[in-house]
Amino acid sequence: MTTLDIARIRKDFPILEQKVYNKPLIYLDSAASSQKPVQVLRKEEQLHLEYYGNIHRGAHFLADRATIEFEAVRDQVVGFIHAGSREEIIFTKGTTESINLVAFSFGEAFIQAGDEIILTEMEHHANIVPWQMMAERKGANIVVLPFSDDGRLEIERLEGLINEKTKLIAVAHVSNTLGTINPVKQIIAKAHKFGVKVLVDGAQAVKHLPVDVQEMDADFYVFSSHKMYGPNGVGVLFGKKELLEQMPPYQGGGEMISEVTFQKTTFNELPYKFEAGTPHITGVVAFGEAIHYLQQLGVAEVAAYEHQLLEYATQKLLEIPGMIIYGAQPEKSGVITFNIDGIHSFDLGTMLDKMGIAVRTGRLCADPVMQHYGITGSVRVSFAVYNTIDEIDVFVAALKKLIVMLR
Ligand code: PMP
Repeated sequence: MTTLDIARIRKDFPILEQKVYNKPLIYLDSAASSQKPVQVLRKEEQLHLEYYGNIHRGAHFLADRATIEFEAVRDQVVGFIHAGSREEIIFTKGTTESINLVAFSFGEAFIQAGDEIILTEMEHHANIVPWQMMAERKGANIVVLPFSDDGRLEIERLEGLINEKTKLIAVAHVSNTLGTINPVKQIIAKAHKFGVKVLVDGAQAVKHLPVDVQEMDADFYVFSSHKMYGPNGVGVLFGKKELLEQMPPYQGGGEMISEVTFQKTTFNELPYKFEAGTPHITGVVAFGEAIHYLQQLGVAEVAAYEHQLLEYATQKLLEIPGMIIYGAQPEKSGVITFNIDGIHSFDLGTMLDKMGIAVRTGRLCADPVMQHYGITGSVRVSFAVYNTIDEIDVFVAALKKLIVMLR
């Protein structure tokens, strides 16, 4: 079924060995945040124990060592997503901060009153609200590309939405609710025909799919470490150098400057221009270990295994009477969002939790998706490399038991 040794991989995640409410934990919420292997945790600890110091500014051994380790991760990220150079990789707090940075700085550099930004109907709030805030500030407008009931973007409508005022399209690579793998390469090609830039939200994609930002020709690509087996509090913004060079800094402070007087400040070169203040040093270094971990397993092998889990779970869930899976179409990844006729999603989530099964319930930070289907909430299960077919069987059996109880 897979060449991966899942039993051995699970040993790297001791948190999964515990019981909650006296039941073996089954963690099906990795789309919210994945668990971290011991290799990542040990790396963070090692930095604290052996060579912690503030980076870039130290004329001493610890600071130098920490700086070397930190900057090596930047090179690793270049390789991981096939960026053109290390100047194109900015470390942030997470996807949310990466998008806020682009919305602010791209907005300042390139957006005039009356301009338009295209978002899709399936975006996470993190890829909606920063653009609305920028649009409000600059007098720009948001235009929405809808999706059809089967969870596909209506790409054929995209060209009709683009006009001479359109400046940027922001789109999820993989939807956090529907799991749809969007045809970002095709969207970017269409956008570029009209000189429109594209930001791809890769938060749900990088741990499931091999990503090549140059091949897809993304102008910006953003993601979080904590969804791909790394520490929380660390994110990445990839941006094309020629764009980042034209954009003003997002935050001011130490590190991002070249020279400061009370009359005038000149800014540092890329990527430091966008990295004000002390970053999450230990987090970034341990994130490097997470990338290494994933690459050792093989992103494609992990993706194939997770796809098997997804297909198996989908097939089992569809056997349940009253099951509604949102966006049930084949090109998807990582998540299944559903409701069961006549049962409140919150009740299901709470009772599954008491059975040791961690799922996500509610609006999934994607109100427009809920509005599309006319629902106020849903249940989402999501998979990572440490999940198993046995866990899915236990989950589906638990669900069937609950349905009898709750109906
Ligand atoms: N975009 C998508 C598609 C997501 O799934 C998430 C996390 N749920 C985010 C953005 C925001 O990521 P973070 O909370 O790590 O900033």
